[in-house]
Amino acid sequence: MKTNYHTHTNYSDGVTAVEEMVNCAIGNDYDIIGISDHSPVFFPSAWNMKYEKLQNYLSDLEQAKASTQGKITVLKGMEVDFFPNLNNIEYFKSFGLDYTIGSVHYLTQFPNGKAFNVDKSKDEFVQGLEQIFNGDIKKLATTYYNFVIEMVKNDPPDIIAHLTLIEKFNKSLKVIDTEAQWYRQLVFDTLEVISQSDCILEINARSWYKGLLDEFVPPLWAVKYAHDLNIPITINGDIHQPQEYGMFWEDAINFVKAANYSQLTIILDRQNRQTVKI
Ligand SMILES: [Zn+2]
Ligand SMILES: [Zn+2]
Repeated sequence: MKTNYHTHTNYSDGVTAVEEMVNCAIGNDYDIIGISDHSPVFFPSAWNMKYEKLQNYLSDLEQAKASTQGKITVLKGMEVDFFPNLNNIEYFKSFGLDYTIGSVHYLTQFPNGKAFNVDKSKDEFVQGLEQIFNGDIKKLATTYYNFVIEMVKNDPPDIIAHLTLIEKFNKSLKVIDTEAQWYRQLVFDTLEVISQSDCILEINARSWYKGLLDEFVPPLWAVKYAHDLNIPITINGDIHQPQEYGMFWEDAINFVKAANYSQLTIILDRQNRQTVKI
């Protein structure tokens, strides 16, 4: 059983149309493909979907679902940005999505009012660290994981995206000591909150196959802890280009096995989940 619930198309920052992405998933022997473009946001953003495209997005996904029946299961998803006190994920669920992926990309604002995106670039990460958090990485990390905790408690998605996203540029920046006890405790505390929810933890392959990190996200020590807490996981490619379908599946399976997992949790439709042995 091969599944991928994290796929971007040209409705947000992916490169190809829905139809092509679905066809490529069929060509790569996927059984279930969830399309999950970035939700619209209330400020200018090049990578988020435009509000005026939302209805087209939903009807394109319906069409892809219908036209590929018997070949692959297409699910209507969205990667929704978490914002404190906004219930943004719940809001987008009301558009009849099969599932949501919840992400903390935006972490407060720069002094000039611009949203700080921790995922965008090394330069923006450093600027945010300096200008918003006065260079205090502990403060940045604590704010980030508190946002994730708040999301899980108050606006829970079906799937939690790239849990350790703030480590994305750390291989070159080295601003986070990921072995430090204070840092690991933040991640462990967040995983404990996740274990009390119905959320599925994503094993995100993107930074690994892009060569940004040497491991999947979250890293092995965190996934082992997730296993000890019985947190359900799913493997996602966070695919933006067709060729990425073929770049991670077997390695990701070996990675989660190394963290002692013997099963993945998959979403069949809005109401039904299932575990599959690996
Ligand atoms: Zn994301
Ligand atoms: Zn994504």
